[in-house]
Amino acid sequence: VDFAGLGLAEPLLRAISEEGYTHPTPIQQKAIPLVIAGRDLLAAAQTGTGKTAGFTLPILHTLLNRPASIPAGRPRVLVLTPTRELAAQVEESVRTYGRHAKMRSMVMFGGVGMNPQLQALKQRVDILVATPGRLLDHVGEKSLDLSGVEIFVLDEADRMLDMGFIRDIRKVIAVLPKVRQTLLYSATFSPEIRELAHGLLNDPAEVEV
Ligand code: AMP
Repeated sequence: VDFAGLGLAEPLLRAISEEGYTHPTPIQQKAIPLVIAGRDLLAAAQTGTGKTAGFTLPILHTLLNRPASIPAGRPRVLVLTPTRELAAQVEESVRTYGRHAKMRSMVMFGGVGMNPQLQALKQRVDILVATPGRLLDHVGEKSLDLSGVEIFVLDEADRMLDMGFIRDIRKVIAVLPKVRQTLLYSATFSPEIRELAHGLLNDPAEVEV
């Protein structure tokens, strides 16, 4: 199968071809149709497998097919990552693949000033990629409203737990809508990850590469 065969929208196919990708990687072949179908996902995938495009592309596709007028500072998609570097990388991927899709994305992490982030949140943000601490700062300050999140991605969940983010993750989940699509990516599946997944995912499809 090629990317068009996976059913992705034309603006995304154009960006993919500009990136020079000819064929979806195995995780993309498995994950893209499931995410488009609206399923929750429990995915085992290491970096380098193409996992980021594997969730970014079908998420962009879903947003394109489900237009919504959203107020400023109220994202439709939240991607949580353990580190600033990963957050920046994922948001860069969103920009790359969403280049013709007219979606607005934002990256948010700590260690930098709040003001530019507060300014950015006064505009429309479709896809927010964030680390947990700064995200919760904004939620606490009410500068960010997570009640409109339709799709939630927990990326590198095992690293999040290793870094001691479990309490923060639980606080974030508590302010997300109960009805949503959730994707959990982890390189390994410890009992702790299984437990988190059990509470977080609704009838998930499991994907492994
Ligand atoms: P990731 O595993 O998401 O960190 O992606 C690893 C690298 O693979 C990134 O540099 C992507 O640009 C690249 N990549 C992702 N999907 C494809 C594809 N279908 N064909 C070729 N390269 C890809």
